[in-house]
Amino acid sequence: MIKPPLIIVGTGLAGYTLAREWRKLDTATPLIMLTRDDGRYYSKPMLSSAYTSKKLPEAIALNDAGSMAAQLHAEIVTDTGVDAIDTLANTLRAGGNTHHYWNLVLAIGADPIHVPVGGYAADCVMTVNDLADYTRFRAAVATARHVTIIGAGLIGCEFANDLLNGGIACSVVDPAAFPLSRLLPPEAGEALAGAYTEFGVDWQFGRTVARVDQDGALLRVTLSDDSTLATDAVLSAIGLRPRTGLAGAAGLAINRGIVVDRQLRASHENVYALGDCAEVDGLVLPYVAPIMQGARALAQTLAGNPTDVAYPPMPVLVKTSRYPVTVAPPRPGISGTWHSERLDGGVRALYRADDGRIEGFALLGSATVERQTLSRELPALLN
Ligand SMILES: Cc1cc2nc3c(=O)[nH]c(=O)nc-3n(C[C@H](O)[C@H](O)[C@H](O)COP(=O)(O)OP(=O)(O)OC[C@H]3O[C@@H](n4cnc5c(N)ncnc54)[C@H](O)[C@@H]3O)c2cc1C
Repeated sequence: MIKPPLIIVGTGLAGYTLAREWRKLDTATPLIMLTRDDGRYYSKPMLSSAYTSKKLPEAIALNDAGSMAAQLHAEIVTDTGVDAIDTLANTLRAGGNTHHYWNLVLAIGADPIHVPVGGYAADCVMTVNDLADYTRFRAAVATARHVTIIGAGLIGCEFANDLLNGGIACSVVDPAAFPLSRLLPPEAGEALAGAYTEFGVDWQFGRTVARVDQDGALLRVTLSDDSTLATDAVLSAIGLRPRTGLAGAAGLAINRGIVVDRQLRASHENVYALGDCAEVDGLVLPYVAPIMQGARALAQTLAGNPTDVAYPPMPVLVKTSRYPVTVAPPRPGISGTWHSERLDGGVRALYRADDGRIEGFALLGSATVERQTLSRELPALLN
């Protein structure tokens, strides 16, 4: 009897990295990948640095689905969403077909969070979470002189930096008092804000976007304090929420993400989750480094060598190239205090636990050279 395939749902970094790692260990078992996008392989972090690296959207994709299928010795079914999973029958429904699986991996990513915005042009507010979004965004800003960004988090700051590098002015609107407010202590966030004010960013802190309306050829953005901005385009970048609906409907345990153990196994034994959709041992970490760690461990597990994922310290390099930021947030629930120090051209902020150990750091500007030394002092996120 032919062995049913490994099915991976999703062809983002998680799906493709796992497929590659697993093929190094198993060249015989059939592999089917299903995706509701076109299956092009690209590095998502490029989307918020493409102006800086002078890349057009079509140059970001490294391979199409056909060449990925050939490389991975896989069948890749594109433009086909998975609608339902039957964990008892080991089947899923996609595009009107039923597929049997041997093991199933959900690598289905996360959805951008949408804030409710009023106004007659609210549907002009864009988000960028994949290559197709980015292609639309680049077309929309092709002749733009000013873009309004909702959200001064990681993605919002990176887009502000990138648009500036492309010669486009930006206003960034955020209810907090400084950028990266979930990651940085105030002194560091204020230094980042100050640097980008000098580069030309118009920060609108302590406000939200209430409405977006058309005003001739421009958009008029009305903020919560009734002030207005004239802009060419509005980009919302306020965070992502793991896609849990498919797993939840199949009866799998979900919380903030699809709940998986250290072997990335969901609450049903031959179903796994990896990447932005997964909550691994309580951690939702929507970054590339945890995907790489997870893919290597899961490939081993699928190949018959059950392997726990380990997360070493994984500082996040924020692509604010004009004033770089590297941040290693403290582990959730660790009590401690930030200690910040202004340096010549930068800021070093250390998060010390109550017993004095370094638990996290934020390095800005000239201080980013200390990343490797300080990383060695951090505890692992998962041992
Ligand atoms: C603009 C931007 C910049 C970033 N920069 C950085 C950075 O500098 N450093 C860093 O570490 N991280 C960065 N990240 C985060 C990082 O890119 C993500 O963590 C990573 O790409 C997520 O990969 P993924 O495969 O889990 O999800 P995705 O890439 O979102 O892939 C999900 C896949 O699932 C498919 N799918 C979803 N639902 C279904 C369904 N029902 N049926 C079939 N297919 C489905 C989709 O079509 C897609 O193929 C950035 C993110 C963004 C948005």
